[in-house]
Amino acid sequence: MNKYLQNLLKSPQKNSSNGNRRDFLQKASLGGLSLGAFANSSIEETLEYSTQKVNKFSNPADLKITDLRVVEVVDAPMPCPIIRIDTNQGIYGLGEVRDHASPKYALFLKSRLLGENPCNVDRVFKKIKQFGGHSRQAGGVCGVEMALWDLAGKAYNVPAYQLVGGKFRDRVRMYADTTGSDDPVEYAKRMKARVDEGFTFLKMDFGIQMLKDEKNMVINRSMNDIGSQWNRKYGSYGSTAHPFTRIQITDEGLEKIVDYVKQVRDIVGYEVPLAADHFGHFDTNEAIRLGNALEPYRLAYLEDLVPWQYTDKWKQITHAINTPTLTGEDIFLKEEFIKLIDARAIDMIHPDLASSGGILETKKIGDYAEENGIPMMMHFAGTPVSLMANVHCAAATQNFIALEHHSVDIPWWEDLVTGIDKPIVEDGHVTVPDKPGLGVELNEDVVKEHMKKGTKYFAPTDEWNTIDSADRLWS
Ligand SMILES: [Mg+2]
Repeated sequence: MNKYLQNLLKSPQKNSSNGNRRDFLQKASLGGLSLGAFANSSIEETLEYSTQKVNKFSNPADLKITDLRVVEVVDAPMPCPIIRIDTNQGIYGLGEVRDHASPKYALFLKSRLLGENPCNVDRVFKKIKQFGGHSRQAGGVCGVEMALWDLAGKAYNVPAYQLVGGKFRDRVRMYADTTGSDDPVEYAKRMKARVDEGFTFLKMDFGIQMLKDEKNMVINRSMNDIGSQWNRKYGSYGSTAHPFTRIQITDEGLEKIVDYVKQVRDIVGYEVPLAADHFGHFDTNEAIRLGNALEPYRLAYLEDLVPWQYTDKWKQITHAINTPTLTGEDIFLKEEFIKLIDARAIDMIHPDLASSGGILETKKIGDYAEENGIPMMMHFAGTPVSLMANVHCAAATQNFIALEHHSVDIPWWEDLVTGIDKPIVEDGHVTVPDKPGLGVELNEDVVKEHMKKGTKYFAPTDEWNTIDSADRLWS
């Protein structure tokens, strides 16, 4: 037992009645009191001092979740459902369901959350994580996890990064996406503007979609509408996984793609890391041909060349090319990352915190990758609420390179929140806030201007209050 505790236990009970409470607190508030100064104090006085910075508005031990409501923001540029978890003590937590996911993924969890103490983040996470799946299906679980850290931080009056182990950095480096253009010179100009704004890491999109109007560049086009990568209709090219399109790229097609990258790289220059994404849906052999052809331009990484599920295909590509490979934005929970890492299938990982399991799970993923020599980039597309969850995680995880920013060109995007210094993203970085929880509040007026048509601002959700299924996964 240490001396401090021994002294506490030895200190006579009469001290608490003899002591003048006001004098004590006055002394305490002057600061500079060391633990030794409590040698003759009662436990009550010591607790009073050591918890004087705890938010007295909330009594964390008795905090209970009483409600979960949603507001749906659109055109951010993605649709983004923001959730609010209310409690019996007036404080609430904000979280965000992943972009393009249904808010119902979060609402379904409400019946499992009511009555829980939100400060028991890991307990609640373990209770609900069975209702998450990969990609958007994880949106509810992860959005709730963010809101729990916001609440726990508010209850204990500390920033979220502090609750998961403290920070490794005061500023989080962002990397910028840039809207595509068929003209490489125009595209390069847009990228250059990002660098002038202070961004130190860029990502570009290019791929076979650029060849949609060309002849003799892509084989098996009659079966695949290669300009429609984002078509989500079942059975469309957009929803057909890469090995099954049987698309091949001709030498001429490859040359055109490579020339586009060369022109952009020449204008952007070779000082700044330049990553790439969205190449289209083709299999391993084409991915290797493309990777090798792009080698002179030293891209930071090639993202999602094939779906993340194909560990063996990733391994084959990674071993065949000398540009780093990366995947992970649709993976839920650490286990699938561990498989990719253990197989040495990719050079870098790219979790999206709103799919990977939230702040703590993503930190665990980063830590595991770090032990295996795999650096972590972070995927992100959402509002400043989810941004701040990412910022706290990136601050608290040593293995971190840069966090994505999809909304640089949306003028009202930062106005969605208050309580934080603006601009939030400055010189390509976000300063880690020291306010309790995630550190932002919603700007109700601006949020209301950008709500999905026909929806309400945090409307009641009583229809989600009751559990109507058994949750145990074993017998
Ligand atoms: Mg991506």
